[in-house]
Amino acid sequence: MNLKEDLRKMALDNGMDYFGVGSVDRWANAPVGHRPNDLLPEAKSVIVMGVRVPEGCTQSNHRAYEGMRHGIFTYMLFGYNLINSYMEDVALKLAEYLNEAGSKVFLPPSSVGRDEYLMRGVISNRHSAVCAGLAEFGWNGLALTPDAGPRVRWVVIVTEAELEADPLYSGPPLCKKCKKCVKECPTEALSETESVDLNISDRTYIYGKLIKPICRSGVTGLAAGTAGRLQAQNVQQTVTKVEDWFKLAKSDNRWNRLERVAAMCGRCMILCPVGRNQIGENASAPTDLTQTKSFA
Ligand code: SF4
Ligand code: SF4
Repeated sequence: MNLKEDLRKMALDNGMDYFGVGSVDRWANAPVGHRPNDLLPEAKSVIVMGVRVPEGCTQSNHRAYEGMRHGIFTYMLFGYNLINSYMEDVALKLAEYLNEAGSKVFLPPSSVGRDEYLMRGVISNRHSAVCAGLAEFGWNGLALTPDAGPRVRWVVIVTEAELEADPLYSGPPLCKKCKKCVKECPTEALSETESVDLNISDRTYIYGKLIKPICRSGVTGLAAGTAGRLQAQNVQQTVTKVEDWFKLAKSDNRWNRLERVAAMCGRCMILCPVGRNQIGENASAPTDLTQTKSFA
């Protein structure tokens, strides 16, 4: 077996659902400071691995947005924090293997550990998934996979090893252009008409324009409509720049900060009809939250 196949086997044996490789030239249009060669000057390849978000986590996200806000804790732990941390462990194993084979690596964190001012991670996971041939962009700007749509978490390894790149995804178009991601966004952060054009190799991808500070207000529980924060304010007019988000977060009082622990979003990911493990048209009936007696 060659090095790439060794790494693929190691990834799959350690619970990864996706493994792909892109050559660094595919990241040529990534922002300065976030390209593979900015992170590791002699980098030749980028390895991308992913794990599907389990169905139970999508259900917990639904419950939270149906009014049972403690549902969000399951989503936060099993659908986000734990998966990301687990993938980072596996990435470390592959990095050690690459080191032993004589190649340097750079390991970006899979989630937390990001530039809050730029609202950007060390390297973009979703763009990397597309560059490694594992997905293509949906209107929601997320990496859609054929089997699980956007409900996948990603981790990236930048390496000097010259690994054979996988072809870019070239199957049938995955995004259904239904704009459910736009309609269901609780903060109206995603445009229905304005788009971003992006070239990767010889292909042009188009996805919806996202106003990041508004989205960030949603995922941090500062905007109306976020799970458990129905009393929060509407931010569409007041939060347009990252400074606005900082100001809003700073003005939040101590009690609200505690309350915001029960906040997260991801509705543009959870509700996308592409792939399996989504509720689609056959959603279960919303939880009945009426009750006359309880044990507490
Ligand atoms: S919700 Fe619809 S428009 Fe949005 S990414 Fe998914 S398929 Fe595309
Ligand atoms: S994460 Fe939530 S607030 Fe952000 S774009 Fe998606 S649906 Fe909108």
